[in-house]
Amino acid sequence: MAYIEPAPIKDKENPFESMMSRFQIAADHLGLEEEVYHVLKSPVKQVIVSLPVTMDRGSIQVFEGYRVIHSNILGPSKGGVRFDMDVHLDEVKALAAWMTWKCAVVDIPYGGAKGGIKCNPRKMSKGEMERLTRAYTQAMYEIIGPDRDIPAPDMGTGPREMAWMMDQYSRGHGMTVNAVVTGKPLVLGGSLGRVEATGRGVMISALAAMEKLRINPFKATCAIQGFGNVGSWAAHLLEERGAKIVAVSDLSGAYYNEEGINISDANKYRSNNEGTLEGYAGAEKIDPDELLLLDVDVLVPAAVEDVITVANADRIKAKLIVEGANGPTSAKADKILMEKDIMAVPDILANAGGVTVSYFEWVQNRLGYKWTAERVSRRSDRIMKDAFNKVYKTALKHNVSLRIAAYMVAIDKVAKTYKFRGGF
Ligand code: NAD
Repeated sequence: MAYIEPAPIKDKENPFESMMSRFQIAADHLGLEEEVYHVLKSPVKQVIVSLPVTMDRGSIQVFEGYRVIHSNILGPSKGGVRFDMDVHLDEVKALAAWMTWKCAVVDIPYGGAKGGIKCNPRKMSKGEMERLTRAYTQAMYEIIGPDRDIPAPDMGTGPREMAWMMDQYSRGHGMTVNAVVTGKPLVLGGSLGRVEATGRGVMISALAAMEKLRINPFKATCAIQGFGNVGSWAAHLLEERGAKIVAVSDLSGAYYNEEGINISDANKYRSNNEGTLEGYAGAEKIDPDELLLLDVDVLVPAAVEDVITVANADRIKAKLIVEGANGPTSAKADKILMEKDIMAVPDILANAGGVTVSYFEWVQNRLGYKWTAERVSRRSDRIMKDAFNKVYKTALKHNVSLRIAAYMVAIDKVAKTYKFRGGF
């Protein structure tokens, strides 16, 4: 194992830089002491491991695996494990810090972490994936743990990999330790309500913001970028609450229907069409870039990062943006949205429903008990509403955007806890 010093981020408007610039603004508003600022900025631990894995052809390939614990001030650290060719330490560090603020803003007792392996999961067999996942778990055996650091799925990983991680860790302990990871299959202690949790949190944040803006959900129009897990659930649940979803998009293109897209219909089409909306006839195809510029009440970016930038922010017509994706708005675009009086519910708040229900999964595992779907959604809705209200009040009090207010709430909580705990 190698513990290494943090390296500076060079890229200009990458999502991490965007996040750090908001962190700095929020820290200034809070009057955060310089010493505490540096403590909160620096990751606690960065681990790089070499993972020699026997491939199906009999050769041995060495993969590089990472785990960064950004903070464990509020409790054990939490964050996904990403399997992707683009994984590198700076990215993992950025995503780990993101997790710290996200957990703090919804007031769950976790710090932030992230892990990853540089690999191409699409080119690996099931057996190779299993051996790689087990090798990673074994290499991180001293790092992870239900009271220490709790991985979860991210890009390229899912319930299957979490089952292997849980099993490998449990073998080392000589007993089943299902609280070591979240996002497990239901039969292994996964939680009901996890699949829809992030989209549901997006819906709850959207309704809370619409109430403040006096937008009647029954008269509201929405455009949703990304029709995967987050986007499709947000679309379905917003439609259920009365909103008209006039546009959705995925990698195949963007689809618009002034009368409203029937989301159950679009979902059925997608499931029968290898997960894509390609060829969907319930709407007309439009330029994907246009979706973000539609004259709608609510815009939900739920696909990828960095889609609302200086290049298009001044042309956005939505009254409200609810960030389902991580990092969809660049820091430079924040100012433009503020000037245009567009409210943006930031990612660390709007998409925190997922980590909230992951926390519930861990709680249920530790209780040795299963909650009903109704209990999961009732409790996560309450957490999301409380977090929204706290952020909204902070924004009013300090005359800042919801984004800066969310960072202020998160940083304030971690800083106060740090001061009580003390250091060397
Ligand atoms: P997903 O893979 O299920 O879906 C992504 C969707 O976006 C797909 O429909 C894909 O076709 C579409 N897409 C990709 N690039 C696009 C583009 N350029 N334009 C339009 N559509 C595009 O992923 P997901 O789990 O729904 O995650 C979406 C975003 O939400 C990511 O930023 C992710 O980090 C974030 N997020 C997800 C969760 C979760 O619980 N799944 C939690 C928090 C944040």
